[in-house]
Amino acid sequence: MKGLIKGMGVTLKTMTKQKVTHHYPDEPMNMPDRFRGIQHFDPEKCIVCNQCVRVCPTDCITLTGRKHPDPGKRGKIIDTYDINFEICILCDLCTEVCPTEAIVMTQNFELAAYSRDDLFKDMEWLHDNNSRIRSENNLNAKGVK
Ligand code: SF4
Ligand code: SF4
Repeated sequence: MKGLIKGMGVTLKTMTKQKVTHHYPDEPMNMPDRFRGIQHFDPEKCIVCNQCVRVCPTDCITLTGRKHPDPGKRGKIIDTYDINFEICILCDLCTEVCPTEAIVMTQNFELAAYSRDDLFKDMEWLHDNNSRIRSENNLNAKGVK
C-alpha cells in the first residue's frame, strides 16, 4: 500500500511538469539555427567553380556545366548537380566554400527511404528543397521564403 501511494505521488508530480516529448511527425521539429540539414541548391547562382566538389570529403557531389550560351556573357552555367546522400555526412563544407551561396544548408533532415536509389538527389530535387533555409543564408537566398 505504501509503495502504491509513493508511486502515485511520483505520477502526480510528473504530470504537472513540462512535457519533454514531442508529437513528431505530426508536429515538425524545430531544429537549432546552426543545425546542418539537407542542402538547398539554386542553379541560377551557381558559377560552376567546382569548389564544393573539390572540398567534399566523401566525394558525393557530381556536377556538369558548360560555357554560357550567350556569347555576350562570360562564365559557365550549370547543367546537372547531384548529391548522393548515401555518403553525404552533412558536414557543411560545400556550403562554406561556395562563393555565391548557390548551395546552402536547411534545417530539413527527413531522408528516410526504402531504396538506396532514392538517396541520390538531383538538381531539381535540391532546388525544390527550399524550406527552412538557415537564417544566415536565408538573408541572401534569392526568391526563397
Ligand atoms: S555536406 Fe559535406 S559531405 Fe555533404 S555534400 Fe557537402 S561537403 Fe560533401
Ligand atoms: S561552390 Fe557553389 S558556385 Fe561553385 S560549383 Fe559549387 S555550388 Fe556552384
